[in-house]
Amino acid sequence: MIGSSVVVRTRSWIVLLGLLTAGAPAAYAADCPGHPDALGTSRTLVVDPREHPLIGTMQYRETLPLKDHEVVLTFDDGPLPKYSNQILKMLDDECIKATFFIIGQQAKANPEGVRKLIAAGHTVGTHSMDHPLTFDRMPIEKFEPEINGGIQWTSAAMTDPSKQLAPFFRIPGLMRAESVENYLISRGIQVWSADFPADDWRHVSSDRVYQLAIQRLEAKGKGILLLHDIQARTVAAFPKIIRDLKARGYRIVHVVPATAERPATPTTPVEWLLHPPTETTPIARWPRVPGFVFAQTQTLPAPSLADLNAQTAHQPLLPRRTRAQTDIASTLPVPGRDLFAIPEGSVEVLLSTSLSRRAATRLAMAAETPGTARGKTAKGKAGKPHAGRTAHAAPAAAKHGAQAKNIAPKGTAHPTRVATSAKKRA
Ligand SMILES: [Zn+2]
Repeated sequence: MIGSSVVVRTRSWIVLLGLLTAGAPAAYAADCPGHPDALGTSRTLVVDPREHPLIGTMQYRETLPLKDHEVVLTFDDGPLPKYSNQILKMLDDECIKATFFIIGQQAKANPEGVRKLIAAGHTVGTHSMDHPLTFDRMPIEKFEPEINGGIQWTSAAMTDPSKQLAPFFRIPGLMRAESVENYLISRGIQVWSADFPADDWRHVSSDRVYQLAIQRLEAKGKGILLLHDIQARTVAAFPKIIRDLKARGYRIVHVVPATAERPATPTTPVEWLLHPPTETTPIARWPRVPGFVFAQTQTLPAPSLADLNAQTAHQPLLPRRTRAQTDIASTLPVPGRDLFAIPEGSVEVLLSTSLSRRAATRLAMAAETPGTARGKTAKGKAGKPHAGRTAHAAPAAAKHGAQAKNIAPKGTAHPTRVATSAKKRA
């Protein structure tokens, strides 16, 4: 098993190191014959997988070094002739270059589909052999043949010796695991997550796919869009996505892997962050504290209270009751006992909603308890006789005695509030 995987690995290396030697021509809107309004591809970004092995902010710290309003289109799970050919035609009509992540089984069943992508100048990476959604819990004995199977069958579909697979891999279902990532990194294969999906694998309308794609792109301002060229809803949504990309001034970037003949596009590390720290992020730019040398080591005397404008002669340094507080306390009347009485009909209102039923029941029980000094009593359900207790007195009562168990402190906060709102409705 290990011996055969070494052979596979070596073969894959040859495949991967060959890479695109002819170079993908950068198409621009002006260069799109027969389509003067084409979106076009604004630039080609050459990346070195070994320098930035994990990309896509959905899962990783880094993403492609895109400028504001730059978008990289990616399509997974193909090729499936019925839909992939339509996507391919739309990309061609717009002179857009995208990146495709091929499933080995699809390449095996439809090698012509892979050849079409290569011939059209798109970047072709892989997406495993069978698309298992268990990469996050598979041992290397399982995921290694999955990765290699996808690479082998996709490579086998390509007949043009000048064109090679890109060492780009997207984990099926984005079910990442460190072991898988480390394995791919050790082989110089770049792991592509994404910056935003459009949920086109879910049972949503094509309009929803289009909306999500644009909304999420707008939220981040740039990034890698994850789509699937095997879905009817994606085919239906794609023209609207293209239309909006044009209207909103987005530009398409084509990503290709670096080779010996084609060095990586020069970038700075900070460009691989979706939102690099700006001038307004002071923490990263704080200067070091200068190394002052203190000639004087003499300490100053402790400050006295007089230095703080304190009136030490008459008043201690404690908060005093203000005149206003004193007045309020002396002028407001003592609240009457009927302040918390429940008006006729309130309990019925409370009982009519299930949410307030328990609170209302408590109120009714409290209201009908013998011995409660109250002018009005609520109609409706009445519980067993209790010791004198009102809704108002309940919080205090709840702290004492076994009888208080029926009215928990938490619940007692509600009757007053509910009764008040019931009053307003009445
Ligand atoms: Zn997939």
